[in-house]
Amino acid sequence: MTELFVKFRSNNLGEANISFKIGDIGYTGGKTEYLGNGDFLITISPIMQNSSSIEIATVLIHEISHAYLGKRYFLFNASFRELYQKYINENGLGNYSHDIMNDYFVDRMARVLQEFNPSVFGVLDDYKLLSAQKLFEMNDDKKEELARLKKNAKEIDQTCNEN
Ligand SMILES: [Zn+2]
Repeated sequence: MTELFVKFRSNNLGEANISFKIGDIGYTGGKTEYLGNGDFLITISPIMQNSSSIEIATVLIHEISHAYLGKRYFLFNASFRELYQKYINENGLGNYSHDIMNDYFVDRMARVLQEFNPSVFGVLDDYKLLSAQKLFEMNDDKKEELARLKKNAKEIDQTCNEN
């Protein structure tokens, strides 16, 4: 996560900025927008209050990854843009980077989450499943597994709060 943040530190290439706010964005946990002039805005939904801390971390890293890919897309030279066209559907910042994230980021995202809290799940694969949500359409088995993981994470949070 720090590595991704470094891409937005002062005097970064492209002079990109990242801001966070909490705001109503419907039923989605987070949203990343490019405002122009190198400014990215990540909005986190108040509905995340009801989620476990590992789920909130998942949304944060997912959105920061969008901003990172958005930075590469909007602020780098034309050849990057051309390469990205192969992946990207131009419908919006929210959609285009999921394939790239699925292909290149899931392992890293999972490791970040495991580092964030290694005691929520037993194995890296569980963190990977959490990281993979929204990146592709899951089958029913995976959806069920994901729901079970989220439920466990919530219970673990509650146990922590009680102690
Ligand atoms: Zn997304």
